Amino acid sequence: MVKAVVGANWGDEGKGKITDMLAKEADIIVRFQGGANAGHTIVNDYGKFALHTLPSGCFYEHTTSIIGNGVALNIPVLFQEICDITAKGVPAPKILVSDRAQMVMPYHILFDQYEEERLGGKSFGSTKSGIAPFYSDKYAKIGIQVSELFDEEFLKEKVVSICETKNVLLEHLYHKPLLKPEELLETLHKYREMIAPYVCDVSAYLAQAIGEGKEILLEGQLGTLKDPDHGIYPMVTSSSTLAAYGAIGAGIPPYEIKKIIVVCKAYSSAVGAGAFVSEIFGEEADELRRRGGDGGEYGATTGRPRRMGWFDCVASKYGCRLQGATDVAFTVLDVLGYLDEIPVCVGYEIDGEVTTDFPVTPKLEKAKPVLKTLPGWKSDIRGIKTYEELPENCRKYIEFVEEQIGYPITMISNGPGRNDIIYRK
Ligand code: GDP
Repeated sequence: MVKAVVGANWGDEGKGKITDMLAKEADIIVRFQGGANAGHTIVNDYGKFALHTLPSGCFYEHTTSIIGNGVALNIPVLFQEICDITAKGVPAPKILVSDRAQMVMPYHILFDQYEEERLGGKSFGSTKSGIAPFYSDKYAKIGIQVSELFDEEFLKEKVVSICETKNVLLEHLYHKPLLKPEELLETLHKYREMIAPYVCDVSAYLAQAIGEGKEILLEGQLGTLKDPDHGIYPMVTSSSTLAAYGAIGAGIPPYEIKKIIVVCKAYSSAVGAGAFVSEIFGEEADELRRRGGDGGEYGATTGRPRRMGWFDCVASKYGCRLQGATDVAFTVLDVLGYLDEIPVCVGYEIDGEVTTDFPVTPKLEKAKPVLKTLPGWKSDIRGIKTYEELPENCRKYIEFVEEQIGYPITMISNGPGRNDIIYRK
């Protein structure tokens, strides 16, 4: 069976932990979009890890980790991650990389930096990992696919034409050093050597695995609100964050995705710019940021402090709907145990009218949160194993959110570890 684990909101919902936990029963874990611009934080018996490229299931010996064709493949980052985890005692993961994946090149990272510099204050808050230039090139049909590394003649011609195109911009728009075809070719040869042992026809591999009844997890990065089509455009990422794209980015039929586990955090956080209706500020935000996640809400890749807010039912209902949630995993609930009262955003007021439907960006910019305050439970719920044992106000919080978003919360995460999970029918 194929299951997708995806985010409902702005990312950082705790997908890494849920994937790592579900990977125990899985054979194959596939990354299907995004690149090394975001990260998952995983805590397990080997230690604490921030993964950017490797799928979260790479800590189990029985799983195969796949980088699908939809991913922005940064080969040096992938190698560094493999070295980092094996250095901490994790057995070398079994990794396959799609021959149709395209590569993030050093010039993509440079163009990301140059463009942010050029835009100055009007920038999109890029993590400067080259993701936007990478996907622009992919769709402009000047990207480099892994399969092309093995065709030397083709590669030689391609580096020349890439340098021609890129050097016009480097010279006239950015006033930066030009690219040299020989250096680019050398980099590609290095990448070829590094990636060769892992290259695979992933869609054929997965078709066979599905036929054999293997358990496959598709692991999403970021969340619905960062999707280029359905998110808060233009403050979005450059590849689709939706489970539906899992079929494309892995190369499987869409009807094979039988379960869509949408991860929702019990409060909100966001990185980068863009409308964030339930955002809070000052000491109230600082306290939640300090207590949040596992050791504070700071970006796994950049270390940037995350923007904080109360749980947003409007955004989460929309987030779950676009993902097509069959299950909601409600995470980081333990963090809220310090609050006397917990505000929840139940509607958006836009031009004097209240709505519970998530609007398009120009309207979103004008939205003000309509808050409802629920009583807190004022206790530590870590270690609790069954739903019934949770404090009454905690159950009421979960049930209130479930009713507002309209999708079943079947898993509750009450700590960062693999076993900190409560299943609910
Ligand atoms: P992802 O990108 O969606 O995987 O999210 P992150 O890696 O940013 O995960 C959020 C953070 O919360 C990580 O530091 C996790 O270890 C942590 N985390 C996940 N689930 C829980 C939970 O239920 N409780 C607590 N306290 N921390 C959690």
